Amino acid sequence: MYIVLLGPPGSGKGTQGQMLSKKLAIPHLSTGDLFREILDNDKHELYKPLQVIKEGKLVSDDIVNKVVAGSLRDPRNKDGIIFDGYPRTMAQARALDQELESIGKTLDVVIDIHVTKEVLLGRLLGRRSCPNCKRIFHVSQGISECPDCKVALIQRADDNEETILDRFEEYQSKTAPLQEYYRQGRVNYIDIKVVESARTADSVQQEVWDRLLELGLV
Ligand SMILES: [Zn+2]
Repeated sequence: MYIVLLGPPGSGKGTQGQMLSKKLAIPHLSTGDLFREILDNDKHELYKPLQVIKEGKLVSDDIVNKVVAGSLRDPRNKDGIIFDGYPRTMAQARALDQELESIGKTLDVVIDIHVTKEVLLGRLLGRRSCPNCKRIFHVSQGISECPDCKVALIQRADDNEETILDRFEEYQSKTAPLQEYYRQGRVNYIDIKVVESARTADSVQQEVWDRLLELGLV
């Protein structure tokens, strides 16, 4: 099964992707994961073009699409992929459709996780992390130091209201055309709306699963 996950930073789509990956036994892949694997292998044909990452530059659509095309043909991914953070642009969305078609597959479902600004702010403003092991906590857990490292938790500088809202707006404007593209296509589309900050990842996962069942996909 081929799945695309959509959702702004802080929507919990990464967690949902990992949970689904376990249940469906198909890999959950972000382009970051794919890039890292190639950058660890200097014999890979895309090793050189991906060096732009080390220079802090953006990877072009063309290169991203080649990376994804390679992952679709990787025998480890023969049963499908849960894409997280891809596609980000219309050019990438079209390329994904074409690449899937070229291997005789189609995208099965888009899972779009919506969160309100309030939920996002509640989650991200309360986020604390261990400066040592990078584990993420939330102030609602009432913990001030990392249980493993015994060091005080810190708040990331970019977890402030202005930056969070900027990232949210940027995400919304960049993703709107993709949402439109998929909604008008023949692909199954699941909207998940998270409106309460207390909503757990398990409850969101249950809703995702129920919707996949309704669609006859699981
Ligand atoms: Zn730690």
